[in-house]
Amino acid sequence: MSQEYITFTIGSKKNIALIAHDNEKPKLIAWCKEHKAELEKHNLYGTGTTARMITDQTGLTVKGYNSGPLGGDQQIGAKIVEGVIDFVVFFSDPLTAQPHDPDVKALMRIAQVYDIPMAVNKATADFMITSCFMNRDYQHEVINFKRNIEERAETL
Ligand code: PGA
Repeated sequence: MSQEYITFTIGSKKNIALIAHDNEKPKLIAWCKEHKAELEKHNLYGTGTTARMITDQTGLTVKGYNSGPLGGDQQIGAKIVEGVIDFVVFFSDPLTAQPHDPDVKALMRIAQVYDIPMAVNKATADFMITSCFMNRDYQHEVINFKRNIEERAETL
């Protein structure tokens, strides 16, 4: 166990988290309709209300976690850490204060740490969903946490 990074693979079948703040939900639902044919090929997850509304209005199957303000964003962050979720589309609201802003920041941070593709607006989501990597494996480098723990345990 010596390398600083290890190679992880995001498979051709992606595990996509879909989240939208309330003002952005109509936009995300419209985006899901527009890209339904592609989204159907992948596993879909979402925060509670977003997941329910997408399923009701598009027919896509979306596994729902808790509502965002009640910990749903944190659950999705934990799934990134566990390797269950590897792609995030989060239409966050840049103009309205959110009670769970720290959770939103935490999710963004953990997506950075694990080098997970994450769109926070429609243009980025459009580029991501039409990427050539959508239907093939993508390999990326993630911090080797086992080594990190070993080193910390020995040196601290
Ligand atoms: P919701 O949560 O899908 O339950 O509305 C989204 C959020 O506000 O993070």
